[in-house]
Amino acid sequence: MTGLPRLPETGSFSQFLRRVGEALDAFERYDQPDPMTRAHAWTAALAGSLPDDGVGAEATVAELVDVIVPNGQRIADPRFSGFVTAAPSTVPLVAATAAMLASPQRQTLSAFHLIEEQSLEWLAELCGLRPHMKGVYASGGSVANLLAMGAARQWAFAGAGLDAGADGLGSQRVAIYASVEAHHTIQRAAGVLGLGRRCVRPIPVDDRMCIDVDELRAALVAGRGGGVLPVAVVATAGTTNTGAIDPLRACGELAAEFDAWFHVDGAYGLPASLDPRVAPLLDGLELADSAIVDPHKWLGAPVGVAAAFVRDRAQLFGAFTQEPADYLEGSFTGDVECSFDSLGVPYADMTVELSSPARGVTVWSLLKEQGKSGVAARIQRDIDYARTVHRLATEHPRLQSLLEPQLSVAAIRYVGNPPMPDRELDELNRALHRRLIRETRYLPSTTTVRRVLTIRPCFVNTRTTPEHVTGLVDEIIRIGDQLAGA
Ligand SMILES: *Cc1c(COP(=O)(O)O)cnc(C)c1O
Repeated sequence: MTGLPRLPETGSFSQFLRRVGEALDAFERYDQPDPMTRAHAWTAALAGSLPDDGVGAEATVAELVDVIVPNGQRIADPRFSGFVTAAPSTVPLVAATAAMLASPQRQTLSAFHLIEEQSLEWLAELCGLRPHMKGVYASGGSVANLLAMGAARQWAFAGAGLDAGADGLGSQRVAIYASVEAHHTIQRAAGVLGLGRRCVRPIPVDDRMCIDVDELRAALVAGRGGGVLPVAVVATAGTTNTGAIDPLRACGELAAEFDAWFHVDGAYGLPASLDPRVAPLLDGLELADSAIVDPHKWLGAPVGVAAAFVRDRAQLFGAFTQEPADYLEGSFTGDVECSFDSLGVPYADMTVELSSPARGVTVWSLLKEQGKSGVAARIQRDIDYARTVHRLATEHPRLQSLLEPQLSVAAIRYVGNPPMPDRELDELNRALHRRLIRETRYLPSTTTVRRVLTIRPCFVNTRTTPEHVTGLVDEIIRIGDQLAGA
């Protein structure tokens, strides 16, 4: 006996995961009342202060299974089309769970570490990126955009003789050029990187909601005239709002002409390169100095995984390297005989996280399971869903489609027949959306397209069927007719 204390055991994985799995299977059937419209009965059940003494593993898992999981968030419901993030498909979720224990970190030479790099390569290929693009995983598109802008900043300031990552920014005036429809994580990245959110110049969009290239050129010319250092031109390959794809080649050529880094934000849309109908819209992707994609959006990985790819990972190093720490550097020999001889690919020096889950395994698992053809079939299906909504709305006498979908987002509204006055339509469609999400199981979002309020279904859910697509349109017509007294 050593006299050291022994604390209670916490149960086995197989025992608890089986029960959690059964609860998740039940949750995923969505045959219970909608958690969003109930009077939040679970809040009382969960209220309570920090326990002095634990209830133990058994009771904790029981509460998880009985109270928390059934009152989760209905994003995985096949009728949910409100976000551009999706619920995970089954295999990547299981893979993520396994990684939590079998490789709680991505560094050191484990099988998980190996597929971290391999899956980045597969993902780049899947998205039509050239082999010279090397990546690092991040928690989401927000951080991936931050990394790419950090690399752009590093590169742009190096051109002006400054190591921005090490020495800071000096007094150089800078600009990042992105369309008004670009994701706001670009502004936030600029803020975090010390460039300032206001350095992002909002470039107007055309009728298709794509960046106006003439306006972009004019802004670059004005910046040059004013002595502004152009840090990056950002094109979005699939805007979050409407799935619009900026003209990549024109943007990339302008970036080169003005000595700016060229970034492609493909957080949502880059997997569309798998659809031959859409691939031509991504022409010019090879000009990118950096590109991001979020497997936790269209690819169905569990939330918490995006990839930032750059032409040259040295720029990420310069921007984000972690200064040496004894407790990390000291223990590795650099040999590759055993897992702990080396940290392996030094991802932690290319991003803002040291500890990080092994995220590649989720991407690996879904690509292994479905293959390129399986992923392509689903991407094409989702694009067909959006096109179907567009077609049904165009053909219907009382609906209007505001946009021909480029990706899997549609934007439609109820207008009545004869069409009601424009000033009444925003309010009618807002009321329609409110009733839709309260009375039915459908849950698209709304957005504004050319200052008009529209209903915006975004199809990224692996589980959505054709009946859910036509069913949504039918319900919009039914509620619209009631509201309009038709
Ligand atoms: C969702 C999205 C982001 C942000 O990604 P998160 O994973 O939500 O952090 C950035 N850019 C675009 C185009 C997006 O759609």
